[in-house]
This record gives sequence, C-alpha cells and structure tokens, in this order.
Amino acid sequence: MSFNLDNITRENVKGLSPYSSARDEYVSDGSKMVFLDANENPFENGVNRYPDPKQRSLKALLAKQKDIKEGNILLGNGSDEVLDLLFRAFCEPGTDNVITLPPTYGMYNVLSGINNVANKAVLLDSDFQPNVEAILNTVDNNSKLLFLCSPNNPTGNSISTEKIAQLLHSFSGLVIIDEAYIDFSTEQSWVSKLSEYPNLVVTQTLSKAYGMAGIRLGICVASEQVIRVLNKIKPPYNVNELTQQSAKERVSNQKVVGQEISAILSERQLLKETLSGISFVSKVYPSDANFILAKVDDASKRYNQLLKKGIVVRNRTTQPLCEHTLRFTVGTPEENSLLTSALKSLT
Ligand SMILES: *Cc1c(COP(=O)(O)O)cnc(C)c1O
Repeated sequence: MSFNLDNITRENVKGLSPYSSARDEYVSDGSKMVFLDANENPFENGVNRYPDPKQRSLKALLAKQKDIKEGNILLGNGSDEVLDLLFRAFCEPGTDNVITLPPTYGMYNVLSGINNVANKAVLLDSDFQPNVEAILNTVDNNSKLLFLCSPNNPTGNSISTEKIAQLLHSFSGLVIIDEAYIDFSTEQSWVSKLSEYPNLVVTQTLSKAYGMAGIRLGICVASEQVIRVLNKIKPPYNVNELTQQSAKERVSNQKVVGQEISAILSERQLLKETLSGISFVSKVYPSDANFILAKVDDASKRYNQLLKKGIVVRNRTTQPLCEHTLRFTVGTPEENSLLTSALKSLT
C-alpha cells in the first residue's frame, strides 16, 4: 500500500495556513493580563470571551483517556462537522469520489452531495460485512475516502477486524472508521492502532454513550500530519465555550458515564428478549450498539401502530438490505417497559 498524504490533499488546501485569531496570537501563560485584543465586551458573564480555538484543556483530558497525543486530535461541532472537514480537505469537488458501504449512516451520502463528490456505494454482504473484493474493484485513482461504520448504524453489528485491516492495507486513501457507538461494543477501538496505519482516521462523538447530543462535540483521531491538514480548514471557533465546559465535566466523570452504559446494555439484553418473543418479529439482529434492528411483517404498519401508542421508532425499510426493518433505540427501563407492553398489545 502506498499511502502518501500529499497525494490525497487538495491542491488549494496544501497552500493554506490556519487562520490566526487573537486567541492564537497571544496564548495565556496563566498570568493576569488585560485582554484588549479581540474586541470582546469586557464585562464578565461567563461567555463574554472567545473560546480556546484549539480546545487545549479538553484535548488534554481526551488525549490522556485515549493514550494518544493532543496533536492526534481534532474536535468539531459534532462528528458531522469532522466528516465534512474530511471531504473539504481531501476531495476535489467534481473530480474525486468516496466509497461508502450501505446500509450505513446517511450523513456520508449527504456530505458527498453537499461537497459535489461522487459517492460510490458498495453494499455490505448479507451478514452486514464489507465485500472487500468488490470494494477494491470499485476503487479508482480518485477514491480518497473510505467510510466504515463500526458498530454500524442502522444494522448494529461491528465490522470484522480482519476486513478492516485488509482495507487499511490495500486502500491508498484515508480509511475513516466511525466509532459513534464504540462504547457499547465489546470490540476494541481502532484508536490503539494509530501508529500502525498512516491512513487510519477514527471518529467518535459525545452524542451517544456520553449522553451529550445537545452540546455537539465530535472527535477525530488521526496521525499528527492528517490533523495538521484538517486544522488548516476548520473554522477557528467551531467548538463553543459552553460545549468545551460541559464536555470537560462529563469526560472527567467516567463513573457516571460507565454506569449509564451498563444500564443501557442490560436494557438492550431485555429488549432483545422482548423482541424475540413478539409474533410479528421474524428476526432480531445482533447489536453492539445502543439500538436493535429487527425484521417485522410490515414495517410501516407497525411503525404507525407504535406512533399511535406514543412511541417513535425508526423505520428503516427503505434502506438496502433492510426491507421490513425497524430500528429501536434502547431507552430507560420505564421507556422499555412501555415499548414492551405496546409491542405485546399489537395485533
Ligand atoms: C449518531 C451518529 C453520529 C453522531 O454524529 P454527531 O454529529 O457527533 O452527533 C456519527 N456517526 C454515526 C454512525 C451515528 O450514528
């Protein structure tokens, strides 16, 4: 495999240097200074100052937790922003393409449309695993990014470690492993393999297991070289002060996060048993995430029946390989018993 970051970086991006904000040009050493450099309102209210554009203290916490360097991390306004930055740094609109493996997370296709970058879709196989041969046959000289989602949304399964390793070895663009659900999985994160693969990019988020979808914090972990390219094009203040504060608090509070994950995992087991006992459910797919995909007799009918009972699930029936499926997010014990009673009452 011949990975060369320069070969896949957009020409115009190579020539850019990161925007230098007031907060970049003077970095506080902790001594008390009078800040008259950024045209802020001087009256303190907690958010009158611009946030740290490099999010140093939050990155320090994350780097320690993940046993990597701060230089291996880029933070964004949700993983959605991180994914968009990858398109904008590496894919020439109208020329380059990306590879995605449906059924998978819808944002990859949305972002390829927004960025005018072709999406070459190669379906997963019937076990929802990548068809490595078909992927490599689809790749051409303009294929810059390959998106793998593990555990995969909406199917719930993890992608085989061997297949991911094969793709990392054979694909000469960046392999992005979207680990939005990694904290619910028994598999190890690919973050630990960073030094082995120069073309590995891992994305994570505080939106799922960390319970902070509302603050919008996405995490991108990659080589320092890749992160340097992304830093050239990221908006300077893309992670606001309130988000940085809440994220630091939550990341420092692993005990609570761990307890919530355990609770969700035991509810997932109960939900799996419930679904398996419902007469109109013909298949319950294995899940490494905080949701379960299930095949039913008539997805739209069951979806609407549940709506009438006040329960909103996701109808995935139009996704390839997901005909007649519904996706159930694991809720609280109370929510799950409401779902269970509702499912049992349907005829
Ligand atoms: C929910 C989800 C995300 C999270 O995106 P954010 O923008 O960080 O909220 C990312 N990837 C997948 C596959 C998801 O399901």
